[in-house]
Amino acid sequence: MNAKLVCPECKNDVDLSRYPNLAVGMVVECNHCGMTLAIKEIGDAEVKSEIVDEGK
Ligand SMILES: [Zn+2]
Repeated sequence: MNAKLVCPECKNDVDLSRYPNLAVGMVVECNHCGMTLAIKEIGDAEVKSEIVDEGK
């Protein structure tokens, strides 16, 4: 996994090493701001995600 995920909330790179089996539809947590992110697309260089609103 060389693709990077940039958190849409805090714009930092999310540490994906904690998610070795990353797949579309998975939910990950930004290790910088704690935002919950749903994986939308996994590309060669970039992973795209969207913010998951919880508890609303
Ligand atoms: Zn973040």
